[in-house]
Amino acid sequence: MATQDAASPWVFDTRELVRRPGAMTETSRSVTAPDQIGTDVIAVKEGDSVDLDLRMESVMEGVLASGSVGAIATGVCVRCLDEVEIPVDVRFQELFAYPDRAAHHHEVAADEDEQDAGYVLEDDRMDLEELIRDAVVTALPFQPVCRDDCPGLCSECGARLADDPDHHHDVIDPRWSALADLAHQGTDDEKKRN
Ligand SMILES: [Zn+2]
Ligand SMILES: [Zn+2]
Repeated sequence: MATQDAASPWVFDTRELVRRPGAMTETSRSVTAPDQIGTDVIAVKEGDSVDLDLRMESVMEGVLASGSVGAIATGVCVRCLDEVEIPVDVRFQELFAYPDRAAHHHEVAADEDEQDAGYVLEDDRMDLEELIRDAVVTALPFQPVCRDDCPGLCSECGARLADDPDHHHDVIDPRWSALADLAHQGTDDEKKRN
């Protein structure tokens, strides 16, 4: 089940920390997102940079990863369809357990299929991809808006209401418009008479 790719930009070497509780290192890395992180509506796009600040701390059970992820997510406002940029700045903290410790956890787990007992170090490396994806996606809004009070689009003609706050349509029921025309003619006649 070793799925880790050592060349992945999300993988960090923990050799210096392994089995040395108390040892700690800090590192920063700017990763070019290898693919989109997010949803169809809003995401950190493929090729955008993701800034990682990572602290790796050796503990009894494995290596504790904590730090922050910074990126800019882009998408469209769900009300007016303008492009939006949403800064992402999330903190995370997760334990990457030693494989033997993790195996013990799995034995304890009643269900054999339940291999989802947390993150595990593989070949003394931690792969942050899943963790970072989860952290970023959780931080993104379900319904991004360009601003909280975005008035959206006119339901009649699709105009951007932010550009034209007084925009409105005199909606006349077609059955009444003939009467309106008659009324106009009436006033015109009166004018002529005066
Ligand atoms: Zn908007
Ligand atoms: Zn309109």
